[in-house]
Amino acid sequence: MSDDTLTEEEATAFRAKVKAFLDEHATGHNIVGADPRDEQSMAQTKAYQAKVAEAGLAGLTYPTEYGGAGLTKAHDRIWREEAGKYPDMSGALTISHGMCLPMMAEYGTHEQKQAYMADMISAKTVWCQMFSEPGAGSDVASLQTRAELDGDEWIINGQKVWTTLAHVCDYGILIARTDPDQPKHAGISMFAVDMSDPAIEIRAINQIDGGQHFNEVFFTDLRIPKDSLIGDLNNGWRMATAMLMYERVAIGTGSTSGISRPWSKRLINHATKTGVIEDPVVRQSIMKIYSEETAKSLVSMRTRAELKAGKTPGPGGSLGKLHGAKIMRSLRTVAGEIGGVASIAGEEGYDDQLWRGFFLGSFSANIAGGTDEIQKNIIGDRVLGLPREPAVDKGVAFRELRVGTQTD
Ligand SMILES: Cc1cc2nc3c(=O)[nH]c(=O)nc-3n(C[C@H](O)[C@H](O)[C@H](O)COP(=O)(O)OP(=O)(O)OC[C@H]3O[C@@H](n4cnc5c(N)ncnc54)[C@H](O)[C@@H]3O)c2cc1C
Repeated sequence: MSDDTLTEEEATAFRAKVKAFLDEHATGHNIVGADPRDEQSMAQTKAYQAKVAEAGLAGLTYPTEYGGAGLTKAHDRIWREEAGKYPDMSGALTISHGMCLPMMAEYGTHEQKQAYMADMISAKTVWCQMFSEPGAGSDVASLQTRAELDGDEWIINGQKVWTTLAHVCDYGILIARTDPDQPKHAGISMFAVDMSDPAIEIRAINQIDGGQHFNEVFFTDLRIPKDSLIGDLNNGWRMATAMLMYERVAIGTGSTSGISRPWSKRLINHATKTGVIEDPVVRQSIMKIYSEETAKSLVSMRTRAELKAGKTPGPGGSLGKLHGAKIMRSLRTVAGEIGGVASIAGEEGYDDQLWRGFFLGSFSANIAGGTDEIQKNIIGDRVLGLPREPAVDKGVAFRELRVGTQTD
């Protein structure tokens, strides 16, 4: 549907419906206490999203046939603009909704879309992303998890790592090697995997901020149906690249739209509470973050406006991702200056806990979704058209390479 199909009256009526819904339901999650695995938090997210779906406000631009609302990009923009003014209720769905859902919508078969999309949209089921391995992060095409066809089933063996929320997800999108005789980018395929299978072992990873939000995932002779393949056989690299583009847009632009400056607002409160708000150096630092957040919102709005419904975003998404990571770095410095040592360790208290979690967790912004260096490489190669990095493995069968953890 086109973007311009709403009359002013229709837009006003839809905005009123969205606001009424958000007023009633987007009241913030109860902060979960000592449970580092955060299962209760996911339960709250699921309960909220179920209400969004009941109200006909979930998956706005996806077809009704697959559980969406079948509405226009204009409806979606109104939803994002309004949701941005309320507490973030669906951050835990960034991967499921921002990456797995658009991949399924764009590349899934009709049967896969019918089987999975409606539950994904309503968050009855939540999905994770299983790309990274111990020897394959930035160079994810070096992955060694294998998928071998045996009759009507694929047998999966191998290990993934850093899998965000795997422990509370129902399904995952996995990339695995299906033909080691092809060059490393060519013999990879993408699959949908049921995370409750006993052949999958999920082990928590302890984080410096006290959380356990990501995991190691081990597959030992996991058998999945042949039709779990997403897209064409051995075309997984193209699919993975598409999903990474969605990831950079999801991380770089967030789920909301419009100008939003959540961090400068929090910093102002923090500086007011700690009594340093009148300090001219602190004020200037906060002002810089305010300007950066404004610029980021504008770039995000442009990225979203450029996205054609149902089409994979281009490499420009790396700009937003890189900018977001840069803001996190400056933010960490300013928050550290305001909070002092309590930003890392100190007395218990909600604000301290919040800022401590932020301070220690903020380092991940330069890594998750592809490191800053990798974003710069993408921008150099694919946006600016600079010469590509030399590749010594071009045209060489994967099994001949000594990459990642591959030693024999
Ligand atoms: C919070 C968090 C959540 C994550 N969630 C997921 C998830 O849900 N699913 C998933 O699959 N993965 C996830 N990851 C993994 C993430 O994608 C990888 O950590 C990331 O791609 C980097 O890979 P690596 O850790 O193996 O580092 P490496 O690739 O080993 O990089 C090490 C260093 O070398 C640099 N480097 C590497 N190659 C180049 C190059 N060509 N040019 C210049 N510098 C280079 C990097 O920039 C980095 O500084 C997550 C990571 C984090 C931090």
